[in-house]
Amino acid sequence: MIKKPREKSVRLLTLEAAMRRVPPEHPQFRFIEKEHARLHYGFIGEKALDYFLTFLPNKNSQLLHGLRIEDPLNRFFQMDTLLITPEYCLILDSKYISGTLEFDETTKQLIRHRGEEKEKFGDPLSQIDRQRYQLSLWLDKNNFPPLPVTSQIILTHSSATLTKATPSLMKKVTFHTNLPNKLQSIDNYKRPPLLDNSNFRKLAKVLIKKHTPDEFSLLRFYGIHYHELRKGVICPECSYLPMLQKRGNWICRNCGMYSKTAHLENLMDYKLLIGNIITNKIIRDFLLLPSPSVANYLLNSMHLPTEGTNKGRKYLLTQFEL
Ligand SMILES: [Zn+2]
Repeated sequence: MIKKPREKSVRLLTLEAAMRRVPPEHPQFRFIEKEHARLHYGFIGEKALDYFLTFLPNKNSQLLHGLRIEDPLNRFFQMDTLLITPEYCLILDSKYISGTLEFDETTKQLIRHRGEEKEKFGDPLSQIDRQRYQLSLWLDKNNFPPLPVTSQIILTHSSATLTKATPSLMKKVTFHTNLPNKLQSIDNYKRPPLLDNSNFRKLAKVLIKKHTPDEFSLLRFYGIHYHELRKGVICPECSYLPMLQKRGNWICRNCGMYSKTAHLENLMDYKLLIGNIITNKIIRDFLLLPSPSVANYLLNSMHLPTEGTNKGRKYLLTQFEL
């Protein structure tokens, strides 16, 4: 049962907005593009797990995707997928990397081999050890019994192969197609249930309640100024910028598309990149609106909560979603 569905992280959504709004000729664009690709393929890798996660051997399992919680020492940690049962917890970390991969168990590095070339992909074995430890601390701090926490790294790219696959490594790493077998063998290892039904439900509930989405100020991180961003409404059909506003319609000069709602997705770019507060003046500038009255019309049509009055009125995007 999926208790918390898989969604794109705020960080990935923010990078997607930046790909639309930062001009490709900006010196930081290529770094944004690289980070976007990393998270985008990471998300594809996580999604590749979904089918194999329908083969859950333990009827009491619950799945929580993208959970980000804080350990007792105020360190946040995020798990791709967490499976909980009344007997144990299992952390799954997916790696969507193609090619010939080697986990160096001494240095704990993940290395991709291409002929003579070696490319490093961080340290997933240590990372998942750390997550196991932090989840144990979290259970203790939140007065849950000491459920055993186990983990698996899942290689989700269909063309990934492993070199130097020792038996000890294969206890920690598997291919996504083998996940159902792996889940079964983890579940076969009989442990006594430490949670009754009510406490098990409580565990899922508390984990979800404590989930804290990552906050990411992309413009600050990359040192990009507001005035450097591309302004206007982007056509949802052909990505042309800017669409024209005429009598309540957005019109694309490139492909001829008409839309009444194209400003909404564009306002989401504003929220992800700049923040939760917008005014008549700012929305006019960001969406290139022709007049204060058009801005007023659009802002009022969204029924956003407001603060202040008249010219100083602020509209709050905190709850704004697509
Ligand atoms: Zn268009």
